[in-house]
Amino acid sequence: MREVEVVIVGAGPAGASCAWRLRQLGVECLLLDREPFPRDKLCGGLVTQEAARELGLRERDYPHGWLWIDRFYFHFRRGSLMLPSPQISIRRFEFDHWLAERSGAPLIRHEVREIRREGDGFVIDDRFRCRRLVGAGGSRCPVHRLLFRDLELRQRERQITALELEFRHPARNPHCHFWFFEDGFPGYYWYIPKADGWLNIGVGALAQALKARQDNIWRHWQRFADRLIARGWLDAPPPRPGGHTYHLAGPNIAPVRDGAYLIGDSAGLATRDLGEGIRPAIESGLRAAEAIAGRAPYRLDGLERHSAKSLLRALLRRRWWR
Ligand SMILES: Cc1cc2nc3c(=O)[nH]c(=O)nc-3n(C[C@H](O)[C@H](O)[C@H](O)COP(=O)(O)OP(=O)(O)OC[C@H]3O[C@@H](n4cnc5c(N)ncnc54)[C@H](O)[C@@H]3O)c2cc1C
Repeated sequence: MREVEVVIVGAGPAGASCAWRLRQLGVECLLLDREPFPRDKLCGGLVTQEAARELGLRERDYPHGWLWIDRFYFHFRRGSLMLPSPQISIRRFEFDHWLAERSGAPLIRHEVREIRREGDGFVIDDRFRCRRLVGAGGSRCPVHRLLFRDLELRQRERQITALELEFRHPARNPHCHFWFFEDGFPGYYWYIPKADGWLNIGVGALAQALKARQDNIWRHWQRFADRLIARGWLDAPPPRPGGHTYHLAGPNIAPVRDGAYLIGDSAGLATRDLGEGIRPAIESGLRAAEAIAGRAPYRLDGLERHSAKSLLRALLRRRWWR
């Protein structure tokens, strides 16, 4: 049995940020992830300046593709809006691996199945024993499933379903584009260029609203692909995308109980308008680390619930952090 002060289940941005801060604070921890890293993660991979700042991320230190996106185009039925909002476009395949390695915590490949309380701590699959446990396993987090399900943090009406593809394709347009409510779609389509000849496209919507309309997300994927081909932004029909679900922020409850914490998607924290989940994952990870080190209680209030607010702030500030 391996004993450690803190076990973090899941090595995405939430888990890796938590591990990074814990190590800075001198708390011993390890990361468990069921996937071998680097691993694919469906995500548009847009990181806000605030999130980058919280992690002390600088372009010069980052060894992978890093593309500054300086403007966003939001398209609606009746017109389009351009917002200058500097964000960083990364590939999660590279970013998550780099973050986990940078944390300095051991990353062990292990799929967590069983958790039991023992004394003042936890035993995980009879292989790991810890005093504090952090659930950072995303939307299928076993810590959420086994210890927090009754809190109903992840509400059905806030569940997002998404199809996405990241593939090698020249970006015929250098900016980020979002198309909202196309043909009654309760969500949006996106087009996000990446560095080094990669492109990310996808469609995401509220699952329940889509079902209520007896609509099908695949129809919108097809519609979107056809539109990009017609614009000359795609050369041919794209390969089949991958699918994933996660939850937008619900009640303002900090999920902590008897030494167990939930962070990131496992707590359902993505912003309510754009479904931005990387920043809340990072922030909740950092806050959980501070709480475990006894510096502050674990709280989620003040966490941005709407991306529009930070977009507007960036617009007003017009200052770029590089
Ligand atoms: C299609 C799509 C596009 C998106 N685009 C954006 C975007 O552009 N910007 C943005 O900010 N957010 C975006 N999001 C949301 C964002 O991807 C998530 O909010 C973010 O990844 C949450 O990070 P996390 O660390 O909580 O979880 P994850 O990144 O999902 O990491 C969870 C980890 O836990 C591991 N795990 C799960 N179960 C177990 C287990 N039993 N044992 C061990 N390990 C386990 C998984 O393997 C995984 O590595 C998007 C999401 C989707 C689906």
